[in-house]
Amino acid sequence: MAKTIPFFIGGSEVAGKGRTAPVFNPATGEQTASVSLASTAEVNAAIAVAKKAFPTWAATPPLRRARILNKFLGILDARTDELAAVITSEHGKVLSDAKGEIQRGAEVVEFATAAPQLLKGEVTENVGTRVDSHSLRQPLGVVAGITPFNFPAMVPMWMFPVALAAGNCFILKPSERDPSAALLLAKWLKEAGLPDGVFNVVHGDKEAVDAILHSPDIQAVSFVGSTPIARYIYETAARTGKRCQALGGAKNHMIIMPDADMDQAVDALMGAAYGSAGERCMAISVAVPIGKKTADALIAKLEPKVRALKVAPGTDPDAEMGPLVTKQHQEKVKGYIDAGVAEGAKLVVDGRGIKLQGYENGYFVGGTLFDNVTPDMKIYKEEIFGPVLSVVRAETYDQAAKMINEHEYGNGTAIFTRDGDAAREFAHQIQVGMVGINVPIPVPMAFHSFGGWKSSLFGDHHMHGPEGIRFYTRLKTITSRWPTGIRAGADFVMPTMK
Ligand code: NAD
Repeated sequence: MAKTIPFFIGGSEVAGKGRTAPVFNPATGEQTASVSLASTAEVNAAIAVAKKAFPTWAATPPLRRARILNKFLGILDARTDELAAVITSEHGKVLSDAKGEIQRGAEVVEFATAAPQLLKGEVTENVGTRVDSHSLRQPLGVVAGITPFNFPAMVPMWMFPVALAAGNCFILKPSERDPSAALLLAKWLKEAGLPDGVFNVVHGDKEAVDAILHSPDIQAVSFVGSTPIARYIYETAARTGKRCQALGGAKNHMIIMPDADMDQAVDALMGAAYGSAGERCMAISVAVPIGKKTADALIAKLEPKVRALKVAPGTDPDAEMGPLVTKQHQEKVKGYIDAGVAEGAKLVVDGRGIKLQGYENGYFVGGTLFDNVTPDMKIYKEEIFGPVLSVVRAETYDQAAKMINEHEYGNGTAIFTRDGDAAREFAHQIQVGMVGINVPIPVPMAFHSFGGWKSSLFGDHHMHGPEGIRFYTRLKTITSRWPTGIRAGADFVMPTMK
């Protein structure tokens, strides 16, 4: 009998009372556990616990909050292998990649340990005669994070370290497809000294998410996932009066200029397109070589490398790419490859037929490469979220930039070139939130902020870094004057500095 993964509420594991969903090992196709799916009442119970914990946590000095996060950072560092193994067993990504996501998440924790500095307000002496103003950034209350399957540790860590550092209490609703990492993080936060009720995990599906969105006790919602759900979260949160940042899907282009170092560009593309089996919101899924000569050279160098990709279970130390997350997702990605062929794109490398000995039931799709993809094709317009790279040939840089600007998504993009003018033009004009110059996956570091444009982000604030601090705090400005010097009598005109 497979174990049932519980919630973590008020500092303890809490068994769900209702529906469950199966959790699989994507490399073998075996069900390894079930996960409890929270009902509205169960989510509300968790929110009530967090609400009760809030006043004390909000009043805890930022330095003390930071010290707890610092201790958590140490635990995370010491137990990276344990967490990575859990991620690989439910997500499928290779172990080195799982460790990489933990590292990037830990960097946000590291950033948040600067809470006393980050939360400093501003002071102006003498905004008027003997009148002073100062501003504070105060926590919001109970906030929630709803996260996707593809980074079960890193994406929650884009959110909760900053939220907790700022004095909020947190409800995490991780993906029901790989829920165990969140539970470990909750236990380790407790071990680091986080008071019970400050950080809680509820698992679930739409019912749990809707309970969060409709709770009057949730002040803000951070979401990362697909665009249709991001849009729904943002619209519902707006209607229920919550602050919201909802990050959605992506279709990231990389332009290869004729003067680019082709070997460097090809290596960059291999990692960016096929790393984590393409299940990254910053994966490059479209390569745009400029001119026929560049395109032909690119395909000639890419093809053998894509064929040679080592696809294996994530636990294999030689694996470059593991399986996809679920059987349904495997079918969906294969369906996109079928669609590309039907629409007339040239299938250079076909990853559909892959079978691994001993892992016949795993959700593997091999590296896939399309040439001659055009912007009217479904495989160009939609996010595939698998190991499928489309090459769209462009005649000029302007044509390529126009294509990127007209695409629905605007998460990340990159240009490979030696031409500083072209790179500068690209960085300044392109309608995308995160831009790489000879950097294929330009994920901002923890002390900058992460987020895309257009249908890749709904809301005003990007995640972590300075934007994260702004998102999880509200501004209060206090203007004060002490009795000496106040003249008698009412003043009915607008206060001004005369
Ligand atoms: P998803 O949208 O299916 O799920 C995300 C979260 O929403 C999960 O917690 C899930 O339980 C919940 N959810 C699913 N259906 C729902 C519904 N109908 N109503 C309410 N909640 C619902 O996304 P996913 O498949 O887990 O993750 C992959 C997607 O996430 C891709 O589109 C990827 O581009 C995107 N992503 C974006 C970023 C970014 O920074 N922009 C980062 C990582 C992943």
